[in-house]
Amino acid sequence: MLFCSFLDPLYFFTYTFLKQRVLIVTEEIPSEDLDRMLSRAARSFMIFIKPSGSLCNLHCSYCYYLEKKELYPDMESFRMPEALLEEYIIQHINASPEKTVRFSWHGGEPTVLGLDFFRMAVSLQKKHRPAGYHIANGMQTNGTLLDENWGRFLAKEGFYVGLSLDGPKEFHDIHRRTKKGKSSFEKTMHGYEILKKHGVSRDILCVVHNDNVKYPERVYHFFKDIEASYITFLPLVERSPETERGISERTVPSEAWGEFLCTVFDEWVSRDIGWIKVQIFEEAARTAFGQEHSLCIFRPTCGDVPVIEHNGDFYSCDHFVDPGHRLGNIQKTPLVELLESPAQRAFGLAKLKTLPRACLECDVREMCNGGCPKNRFLKTADGEENLNYLCSGYKSFFQHCRPWVEEVGVQWRKTKND
Ligand code: SF4
Ligand code: SF4
Repeated sequence: MLFCSFLDPLYFFTYTFLKQRVLIVTEEIPSEDLDRMLSRAARSFMIFIKPSGSLCNLHCSYCYYLEKKELYPDMESFRMPEALLEEYIIQHINASPEKTVRFSWHGGEPTVLGLDFFRMAVSLQKKHRPAGYHIANGMQTNGTLLDENWGRFLAKEGFYVGLSLDGPKEFHDIHRRTKKGKSSFEKTMHGYEILKKHGVSRDILCVVHNDNVKYPERVYHFFKDIEASYITFLPLVERSPETERGISERTVPSEAWGEFLCTVFDEWVSRDIGWIKVQIFEEAARTAFGQEHSLCIFRPTCGDVPVIEHNGDFYSCDHFVDPGHRLGNIQKTPLVELLESPAQRAFGLAKLKTLPRACLECDVREMCNGGCPKNRFLKTADGEENLNYLCSGYKSFFQHCRPWVEEVGVQWRKTKND
C-alpha cells in the first residue's frame, strides 16, 4: 500500500518519528550543510565530463565519439567556458552522496584543451570543496600530448589516468592513427613513459578488435613488458546494418573474445595475481565476496554514468549521446534533478527489464547480467530479442573462471569465520 491515511496509526507513528528526526537533524547541522544534504543524488554516480566535446588530435577508425560533433553544427568553440566549468563543479560536488567526489575527464581528447584548463579546473574544485571532502580526478587520454609538465601536474594533483593502448605497435596502429593516417604508437608510448616516470596511477585501456584478439599472449606479454599494473580490455562491437552479419569487419568475434579472455586469465591466475589487475577478472571475483559490480555493464541496472558535454548538455550514457537521450542542460536543470529524473531512472532500469529469458535462466547471470544494452541486438535460440552480441564469449569466459571464483569465495568465508 503506497498511500496512508492520516488516521492510520502506523502513518502517525512514522510521521511523528520522522518529524522529530528532522527537527533533531536541523538543530544539529548547519543550514549550509543541510542544503547540501537535501540536494544530493540518492546513489553514487560517475559523470563522463567532456569539456572539449568530441575534439581530438587523433582520428581512430573505430572512435564512436568523433561524429558527435554533428550534434552541434553551429557551435564555434568546443571548449567549455570557465563560468560553466565552475557551475558544473559546484553542482557535481553538491550532488555527490559521498565525501569523496570523483571527477572523470573525457573527450574526444581532454588534453587538447591544454594544461592551464585543468589547472583552472583543479583550483575551482579546491575553491568549492567543502571541509572534510576529498576530490578524486580521473582522466581518459590517448597520451600523445603528454609532456613533463603534464606528468608533474597529474602526479601532484593525484590524477588517475586511463591510457588508450591496443597492444604492441603492429596492433595499436591498425586503428589508432593521426588525422593524416600516421602512426600514434610512439607518441602514446612517450605519454605512457611520462606517466610512469612521474608515478601517476595509470590504467591501460586496450580495445580488443578482430586483429589483436587472435594474439592474446602477445598483447598480454607486451603489457607485462611495459610493467602495466592495471589493464582494461574493451571488446569492439560496431553495428553495420548494411553488411550480411550486421557488424563491421573490425568487430571482435564473440567466441574469439571469450578465448582471448580465457587465455589471458590462465596466465594471470597462475603467475600474475597480486601484481597485475585486470578489470574483468576483478569484476568476476566480486561475486565471490557478494560485492556489487563496479562496472555498469555487469550490474543488473545501470544509468549511473551519464555524460555532460562541453555546453552543459546531459546525456544518459556515453554510448547514447543522441537527441533522444539528451535529458536537459545543467544550466537550466540542476544536475541532481537530471540524475534523479524519471527518464534517467527508466534508462537504467531498462537494462534489467529487457533481459531475455536466456539471461534470466543463465548459470553465469550473476557475473554478466546481460552485458551492455548497446550490444543487445541478437535473438536467442527461442527467437527472443535483446540477447547480447558478446553472449557466447562472456559465457565461455565466466564459466571458465567460475571454479576459481568459487574457490576464492570459499577461502574468503573461511578466513572471515576463523
Ligand atoms: S548503456 Fe551500457 S555503457 Fe551505458 S550505462 Fe548502461 S551498461 Fe553502461
Ligand atoms: S552469458 Fe549470455 S545468457 Fe548469460 S547473462 Fe550473459 S548475455 Fe545473458
